[in-house]
Amino acid sequence: MTGDAVLAACADRLRGARHVAVLTGAGISAESGIPTFRDALTGLWARYRPEDLATPEAFARDPRLVWEWYAWRRAIVQQAKPNAGHHALARLGRLAPTCVLVTQNVDGLHQRAGSARVLELHGNILRTRCSREGRVVERWADGPEVPPRCAACGAPLRPDVVWFGEPLPVEALRAAWDAASLCDVFLSVGTSNLVEPAASLPWRAAAAGAEVIVINTAVAGQRTGPRIHHLVGCAGEVLPTLLAAAWPNRPTAAS
Ligand code: NAD
Repeated sequence: MTGDAVLAACADRLRGARHVAVLTGAGISAESGIPTFRDALTGLWARYRPEDLATPEAFARDPRLVWEWYAWRRAIVQQAKPNAGHHALARLGRLAPTCVLVTQNVDGLHQRAGSARVLELHGNILRTRCSREGRVVERWADGPEVPPRCAACGAPLRPDVVWFGEPLPVEALRAAWDAASLCDVFLSVGTSNLVEPAASLPWRAAAAGAEVIVINTAVAGQRTGPRIHHLVGCAGEVLPTLLAAAWPNRPTAAS
C-alpha cells in the first residue's frame, strides 16, 4: 500500500472505532522543544548517565544533583507549549465515542492542550512529593536549601516522577491495560516502545484484536505485524492529517 492508502485505511478504522486508546511518548513533545531523555543528556549534562540522574539510588547519593537536573528540565517544560499533535489528540478525545489517553510523558502538555483525562504512567515533573511519606506537594519555595524540604515532616522533596527501577502507579497502569484490551483502535505516538511495561500496551491491543497505528518519525525498532500500521512522520503533522481524513466534515479548530 502507498503512504496515502495506509493513511486512508487508518482514517477509516479510526472513524469506525467505538473505543480508542492512545499511548504517547517523548516524541510527541519533541516538537514543543522538550528534548527526549537521551537528547537532554548534552551540554552540562553530557557526562552523566540516566542512572546517575533518574534512580532512587542517585537521589540517595546526591539529592542536589538530581534536584538540579529536574529543575533544569522543569524550566524547559514550563516554557513549552502544546503543539499540533497534542491539540489533535485533545480533539480526538471529543470526536471518538470513548478515548483513553495514556502517556509516558511527565510534561503535562496533554492536559494543557485540553485532554480531559490523562493516565500519567510516569508521573509529572511539575509536581514534587515528600521523599519519606510520599505526600504530593504541588507548591514549594525554592530557597538556599536544595532540595527543599517537606513542610510537614522535613524530609527532602523529590520530583513526582517514576524513576528507573520504581514501580508504576498501579491504578493508572491497570486502567491503561484495560483500555488496550478493550479498544478497537490503538494509537502509539512518538514512543520507542522500549520502556516496559508501557511498551507492551500496543501489542496487548493487537493481541486482543485491535488495529494498531504507530506514528513515529522512524520505523526502525518498531514492531511489524498484520494489524500494525505505520504512519511515518512528525506527530504534529501526521495526527492532524489523520483526523482531517477521518472526519473531513468536522471543523479542525479546537471545539
Ligand atoms: P524515547 O525517547 O525512547 O523515544 C522517542 C520516540 O519518538 C523515538 O522512537 C523517536 O523516533 C520518536 N520521535 C521523535 N520525534 C518525533 C516526532 N516529532 N513525532 C513522532 N515521533 C517522534 O521516548 P519514550 O518512548 O517516551 O521513553 C523514554 C522515557 O523518557 C519515557 O519513560 C518518558 O517518561 C521519559 N521522557 C519524557 C519526556 C516528556 O515528558 N516530554 C521527555 C523525555 C523523556
